[in-house]
Amino acid sequence: MLMRPPSGEKVLWQELLRHELEAALTQDPVVIVPVGSIEQHGPHCPQDVDISIPYHLAIRTAEVVDEFPVIVAPPVSLGFTHYNMGEVGTITLSLETFIDVLCDVSRSIWANGFKRLILLNGHGGNEQPTWAAAVKLAEEDVWPVALTYWNMALDELRAWSEADEGSIGHGGEWETSLQLYLRPELVDMSRAVKDEWRLKFGPDIGRYAMFPERRREMAHGVMGDPLVASAAKGERLFAILLERLVALCREYHEIDPPRYREFGSHCP
Ligand SMILES: [Zn+2]
Repeated sequence: MLMRPPSGEKVLWQELLRHELEAALTQDPVVIVPVGSIEQHGPHCPQDVDISIPYHLAIRTAEVVDEFPVIVAPPVSLGFTHYNMGEVGTITLSLETFIDVLCDVSRSIWANGFKRLILLNGHGGNEQPTWAAAVKLAEEDVWPVALTYWNMALDELRAWSEADEGSIGHGGEWETSLQLYLRPELVDMSRAVKDEWRLKFGPDIGRYAMFPERRREMAHGVMGDPLVASAAKGERLFAILLERLVALCREYHEIDPPRYREFGSHCP
C-alpha cells in the first residue's frame, strides 16, 4: 500500500528531513493522519480497504495543494473492528487502545508545532471513536478535525448508487469501486458476491435507531452489492472526495485553530 505521489513530491512525514519539517512549520501547514482498519472485506477485496482509501486521498491532496505544505502522517492502519472477527483476516484494537493511539499520535504532532491536523478516517467502526478522541484532545487544548471520508460526499453517494442506496457499505458497490479504481490488481471480481443486509429494525425505524455492531451476520462478510462496482464509479467518487478534502485543507490553512485560552477564564 505504501505509495508516493506520482509527481515524486515529498509529502510523507516519515520521509522528510528535519529542516524540511522546520521549513513547513513556517507556512501554516496541514497534517493529515489517515486512519483505517485491517479487516475482512468479503471474498474479493484485500484486508486494507479502509486505510488504503484515506491514505490515497491524503497523498493526492498533498500533491494537489501547492500554496502551502500538506503533510501525510504515518497511517494509523489498525482500528476498532471487533465485529469483523468472524472471517479470517481481521486485526482489531480494543476501543480504549484505538482512542489512546489517536490521542498519542495527535498530541505528538501538535507538540512538534503542527496545529492544523486532520484525522481522516476510512472505517465505519472508527467513526465515533475517532470523534471521541478529538473531543478528549480538545480538553487538552489539542484540536484535530476528525472526519470520515464518505461524509464528504453523502449527496453524491445517494444520487449515484445503483444498489447500495447511498451507503458506503462494506466491500459493496462503493468500496469495491474505489478499489477497482485505485488498486485493481488486488481485487478478484470472480469471487465477488452480494450479501443481504439484515437490519434489526425495519427501514423506517432503522434510520434513527440501531444497535452498536457485534459479530456480523452476513453470509459472506459483505454489506452491499459489489457486482455493480466499476473503476469508473470509483474514479468519479474519488474525484469529488479529493475536491472536498482539498477545499477543507485550503480553508483550514486560512483560519486559526481554536485555543482554549481565547475563550476566557470561565472554566477551571
Ligand atoms: Zn470497509
